[in-house]
Amino acid sequence: MLGYLFNKRTRSGSAPKAAYVHIPFCQQKCHYCDFPVIVDNKPNSRRRSQYLETLRWEIKLTSSRQQPLTSVFFGGGTPSLLTPAELGQILQDLQQQFGCAEDVEISLEADPGTLGIHHLKEYQNLGVNRLSLGVQSFIPELLQISGRTHTVQDIETAILKIKECGWENWSLDLIQGLPGQTLDQWQFSLQKAIEAQPKHISVYDLTLEPKTRFYRDYPEDSPQLPGDELTAKMYCFAHEFLESHGFIHYEISNYAQPGYPCRHNLTYWQNQPYYGFGLGATSYVDQVRFQRPKTIKAYREWVEQQAVFGDVEMLDYPLEEKDELLEGLMLGLRLKEGINLTQLLKPFKGGIKDSLQSIIVNQLSRFQPEGWVGNQRNQWFLIPPQGFLMSNTVLQHIWLALDDITIL
Ligand code: SF4
Repeated sequence: MLGYLFNKRTRSGSAPKAAYVHIPFCQQKCHYCDFPVIVDNKPNSRRRSQYLETLRWEIKLTSSRQQPLTSVFFGGGTPSLLTPAELGQILQDLQQQFGCAEDVEISLEADPGTLGIHHLKEYQNLGVNRLSLGVQSFIPELLQISGRTHTVQDIETAILKIKECGWENWSLDLIQGLPGQTLDQWQFSLQKAIEAQPKHISVYDLTLEPKTRFYRDYPEDSPQLPGDELTAKMYCFAHEFLESHGFIHYEISNYAQPGYPCRHNLTYWQNQPYYGFGLGATSYVDQVRFQRPKTIKAYREWVEQQAVFGDVEMLDYPLEEKDELLEGLMLGLRLKEGINLTQLLKPFKGGIKDSLQSIIVNQLSRFQPEGWVGNQRNQWFLIPPQGFLMSNTVLQHIWLALDDITIL
């Protein structure tokens, strides 16, 4: 048994209405991926059934806050490797444990190479109403270099099946900044994405994460990587192009047709609480952000301890008010609507509140002449695309300025 420390839950907070469920299985590891992933695509493997059993156990051990779920997100890994029967069992557990609102959004991440038409229909019958298709690129060489198992033909077939089954709310992911990627190739992928007519498009910038094959193969100054100037051009092109096709750039990396932002992901950016289940999954309950162990063995042991100690949580101290503020700023400024400073500073009183307000406003306003930051009354936001592109610079200035403030 691992030596985790536990304490009885004594804190309170608003009840989570969102649940993230991690399905770690993948057909192979993509060369840029640092998620907790297990390469295993055999439906009947012992490891997989044991993992699903542990995951379901964790759900059943988690105390309900009497608040029905308004969003469930199956992420991974490759949740589309689950059979409808496996998915149905997990959904049933969530329903029994927490209840689901009538209009609950249930999202499932899918790999284009894994989507059978029967599964798609059965997922729908189970109540899954949002699909997120991991396309990444419409250029064969870029898929290959990234270690994706699917082909462009698989993507096109998957899109046809999605349409044939009548999925309305579906999303498509693309990556910019891949090794060797040109601006023309990026524009081609965006054009193909538009032609597929999803309601939502996520555009991620490649990050070289330690322990990935890309990190090993491409040092930061590698000539094969598109430099900062080119990736900035790609980012700005995506903004102009997708907005001209009716998409709203509602978050740094996300675009949606009106009425189709991802409800679940908004929970994160609005700094709202959420449950997390499964290997490496993070939860945010009672102001405690907690990440589960990242190996199957350690995760199983952790769930066993949950069972022994009852309604307990790992002793992970709740975020201090200042940390909450920094998280609120960092997450909120990712959204087009930005942050409401009056709301964000509500937990603070008197002189400290005035000082925080003045520091944050000073730092944000210094970027207004550049056209990166805008404000309406006490609502502050980054103006896309340049403001989003420069978000790290803006945040760094705020962090440094807040560094000396001590809140007792
Ligand atoms: S499919 Fe997704 S989760 Fe799986 S290895 Fe590739 S990027 Fe990672």
